Amino acid sequence: MRIVVKVGTSTLAHKTGHLNIRHMEEFCKVLSDIKNAGHEVILVSSGAIGMGMGKLHLTERPKTLPEKQAAAAVGQCELMYTYDKLFAEYNHTVAQILLTGSDVRDEHRRQNFINTVERLLAFDCLPVINENDTVATDEIVIGDNDTLSAIVSVNLHADLLILLSDIDGLYTANPRVDPDAKLVPVVTELTPEILASAGGKGSEIGTGGMQTKLTAAGMVMDAGCDMVIANGADPDVLYDIMDGKAAGTRFIGRR
Ligand code: GLU
Repeated sequence: MRIVVKVGTSTLAHKTGHLNIRHMEEFCKVLSDIKNAGHEVILVSSGAIGMGMGKLHLTERPKTLPEKQAAAAVGQCELMYTYDKLFAEYNHTVAQILLTGSDVRDEHRRQNFINTVERLLAFDCLPVINENDTVATDEIVIGDNDTLSAIVSVNLHADLLILLSDIDGLYTANPRVDPDAKLVPVVTELTPEILASAGGKGSEIGTGGMQTKLTAAGMVMDAGCDMVIANGADPDVLYDIMDGKAAGTRFIGRR
């Protein structure tokens, strides 16, 4: 199987912006094992701005564009350094790819991106993709990594997109405020009720929320790819997902 795994800032870093070592080590170990089992893995990783915050000792997420871009420039290094080190322990080679909206909207550049990732997968590398936050401005931004991971999945004809977040999956209402909210295990169609159940932004240091995840679901389902939203706090959940066991919320792609 070809799988795209998107991991959010809330899984990789503490609220302080410093690395969540336990999550990150477990996560890289499980992904390495999935690769060892013969699957093609593409990672879409957030965390550049969050980790930049930690390194620059900022106490809140930067608000101005130059500040965000500076934080991303610092944090992206930290992120790749950490992935390189942890995946190297299991003999896997990571490759960094940074994209903006213009790279995927321009046909020539989009094709180049696809060719590069295909070649990296043929080399048995693990592509790690993020938005190029250091140069992305309003006009060319993709904006969030849920959407970016859906774009990656559709362009590379992935079989499965897994969004690891700080929430267990899609709920009937916002579980942070409504105790009666229930987890939805399977979604075969994005009905108006499902779209209405998505609240706003999720965490203090990340960008996405349930809305961007449902947009991503719509994109990949149309392309015949399944998507799972699961909690990244226990990366072992990836084994359950790969084994087809119930985990988080599974959106079934149109066949
Ligand atoms: N590209 C952003 C970062 O690395 C994250 C965007 C997102 O979390 O959706 O900080």
